[in-house]
Amino acid sequence: MPNQMNELHRLIEMVQTIEVGLVMLDKDYRVQLWNGFMENHSGISPNTLRDRNLFECFPELHEEWLKKKMEVVFTLQNRAFISWEQRPYIFRFKNFRPITGQAEFMYQNVTLFSLSSLTGDVTHICMIIYDVTDVAVNKLQLKEANAELAELSQIDGLTKLYNRRHWQDLLNREFERYQRYHEHASLVMLDIDFFKSINDNYGHVVGDRAIQHLAKLIRDSLRETDVAGRYGGEEFGIVLPNTDAASASQFAERLRQKVERSPLKAEGQNIKFTVSAGICMLDDEIAQNSDWIRRADAALYRAKETGRNNVQVYTKDEDSQ
Ligand code: GH3
Ligand code: MG
Ligand code: MG
Repeated sequence: MPNQMNELHRLIEMVQTIEVGLVMLDKDYRVQLWNGFMENHSGISPNTLRDRNLFECFPELHEEWLKKKMEVVFTLQNRAFISWEQRPYIFRFKNFRPITGQAEFMYQNVTLFSLSSLTGDVTHICMIIYDVTDVAVNKLQLKEANAELAELSQIDGLTKLYNRRHWQDLLNREFERYQRYHEHASLVMLDIDFFKSINDNYGHVVGDRAIQHLAKLIRDSLRETDVAGRYGGEEFGIVLPNTDAASASQFAERLRQKVERSPLKAEGQNIKFTVSAGICMLDDEIAQNSDWIRRADAALYRAKETGRNNVQVYTKDEDSQ
């Protein structure tokens, strides 16, 4: 008998000191066991809780939801697992870990299972609470970093507009949408006039600022669904969904005038510059997305040829030139 007592004593000591939370409830959710881990993190002793209803003692528990889970475990005599990704925590314990100081509360995984008496009746339910704060914080940080990386890989650093690759993906998407629904869509290609002379006269840094300045003017002109990207050095592409050539032309003309009226302030001067634009509306003759860009570029070329600082819409004559 003393041996069995010793064994029992050791078992209880293990339960008390183990670094996971152990809670045992009877069928009426009254606390029968509350181990050291639970005491340390809640600040409430097992004596205070003994035979008291868990949900009355911890109003922060989602009673209805948790009871439902527990009832299933009681009935089916199986296990249930609650992940921190489902609910960050069951018990609201403050997080004191120095390494994962970012988390205010302890993230928890919880396992529920039933216990039966010697006669086989299910009499109790057990909860095991794991502190998974380190894992959760790492995973959340990784997620955040990945989202940032994904964004970085889509955005042009200088202008914060889409970079060429991502812009072209979005253009392709619009092109495919046209194949299906045949809704209007227009493409504007835009290029700064005599940009080399800005670089030559004021240097590359000011040149960069002119590119940023134009990007801001473009961004301020966009509707929610318009998609603007930096196509090359000082050349931009703007996809305008649900827009015919005439409306795209108005859009580009307004933007052209805005650029003309909004000089870049740099080195104590107002540096004026202008842009030219070429426009192409999607139609059934455009078999590939690259043709769409090629046609808008041809119209842009004509805008340059005819004196710059103007907007041209693609016409079929362009191809014969
Ligand atoms: P055009 O009116 O025919 O467009 O004349 P342009 O001088 O603007 O000629 P083009 O469009 O071919 O010039 C592009 C120049 O832009 C070439 C390159 O030196 C410069 N450039 C390209 N990318 C950048 C950049 O990121 N920053 C700066 N500062 N300059 C760039
Ligand atoms: Mg240029
Ligand atoms: Mg250019």
